[in-house]
Amino acid sequence: MKIQPQPDRIIIFDTTLRDGEQSPGATLNVEEKLTIARQLARLGVDVIEAGFPFASPGDFEAVQKIAQTVGTETGPVICGLARATRQDIQTAAEALKPAAHGRIHTFIATSDIHLKHKLKKSRSEVLAIAEEMVGYAKSLIDDVEFSPEDAGRSEPEFLYQVLERAIAAGATTINIPDTVGYTVPSEFGALIRGIKENVPNIDQAIISVHGHNDLGLAVANFLESVKHGARQLECTINGIGERAGNAALEELVMALHVRRQYFNPFLGRPADSEASLTNIDTRQIYKTSRLVSNLTGMLVQPNKAIVGANAFAHESGIHQDGVLKNKLTYEIMDAQSIGLTDNQIVLGKHSGRNAFRTRLKELGFELSDQDLNKAFVRFKELADKKKEISDWDLEAIVNDEIQQAPELFRLELVQVSCGDRARPTATVSLRTPEGEELTDAATGTGPVDAVYRAINRVVNVPNELIEFSVQSVTAGIDAIGEVTIRLRHGDRVFSGRAANTDIIVASAQAYVNALNRLYAAISAPTNLPHAERIGAEV
Ligand SMILES: [Zn+2]
Repeated sequence: MKIQPQPDRIIIFDTTLRDGEQSPGATLNVEEKLTIARQLARLGVDVIEAGFPFASPGDFEAVQKIAQTVGTETGPVICGLARATRQDIQTAAEALKPAAHGRIHTFIATSDIHLKHKLKKSRSEVLAIAEEMVGYAKSLIDDVEFSPEDAGRSEPEFLYQVLERAIAAGATTINIPDTVGYTVPSEFGALIRGIKENVPNIDQAIISVHGHNDLGLAVANFLESVKHGARQLECTINGIGERAGNAALEELVMALHVRRQYFNPFLGRPADSEASLTNIDTRQIYKTSRLVSNLTGMLVQPNKAIVGANAFAHESGIHQDGVLKNKLTYEIMDAQSIGLTDNQIVLGKHSGRNAFRTRLKELGFELSDQDLNKAFVRFKELADKKKEISDWDLEAIVNDEIQQAPELFRLELVQVSCGDRARPTATVSLRTPEGEELTDAATGTGPVDAVYRAINRVVNVPNELIEFSVQSVTAGIDAIGEVTIRLRHGDRVFSGRAANTDIIVASAQAYVNALNRLYAAISAPTNLPHAERIGAEV
């Protein structure tokens, strides 16, 4: 969809795949990014920031593939990040070529502290670069977004000047980042008001906001900015992102939805209008949250607003009584509105391949024939152990299949003996990237420890396990267990995830998945550094 210059609604710009992916250990492969991008399109985001094409060949490929498959005529705008250099901008334009509606997002710092220590440039030099590079981007693509990095700490007069020049050079969106997450809501609102009042050509561009959650204020800052003229919000699913993360999409969207009558007048609508303030299909929120959590390995805390496991659980006796009498007593929104109760029992032991494929399609998964076959085998195995298969079980299986690439080491066998009188002992067989099958055994303090030690003896790459968690996908003793782990190698973090009704098998597979990511990263030294390393901190 093409974005109109002065919308009377809020544009949702999702940066899960760019800023969110910069979270330590959240690194996604191209297939995983594509899966998330498809779901973001189904969720109804207006713009997907798909990556930073110049950062690495992998980033370039991901942006290009998303542009090709998700950036259709009726699909979202696909955006690529670029520093204010010709090389970055040209690479972004190249990656975005297949998109029906592409956008280049370029940025340069405007605060004195960044000018002095990072860029080592004067204000007039920065002004000239911003103008020239926005102009260059505009010569390649129609839709250009410009961000003055660290706007929150920039001198206002200089900021106004830079924005005026960027708009004059062709920027159609100007994005105000609170890069270091330092601002409080009243200040952020005043910053946006100041821009609206002091940049002479501001009516020719959409004001956007971007912010980090170091003080837990990103969402509050954004909502305040809407009252002062911001019309695009840059956010991520589950609020993932660098350090404490970005503003959470689900919190912003649901705040604007539940309190639309409060926000209506700021958008020039009648106060009692029931019309939605965003294009988001809120019933897709819960599913998107689970997908992003599964594929990034970034778990959602149980008390997280909107999508946490406890967000809709009214446990206290007084509340339950009230909710039973009338839902609105304690519930300000309905679990159904975020798609939480859509977990239906859908398939069973006798369901065939067609029913399986059809349901996956309805859930938004489009698998290749090969992946579909693998997933179907897993489904049949599960149906033997578990009578009723729900949507969430299907998602767990499919996420597992999507996530297994790159499969350098393959787990062929895992066998454990343990108990209160036995020393936990594990035997594992792994197929190496060269195709050789290696078997080894080890003892440990528990079954998982023994399995990991045995795997380490085969793979032999130094690493430190920093997180291990098991969650059940559905209720019941026969539920699938999802294991998520994170491990550190040097200063990099890799995550792995796997699901199985046997949590020891899931633990072994999750560990092998994480080691495969680690192995792929260290055996591809030609890749340019990841975005965070070349200083893209918009
Ligand atoms: Zn950021």
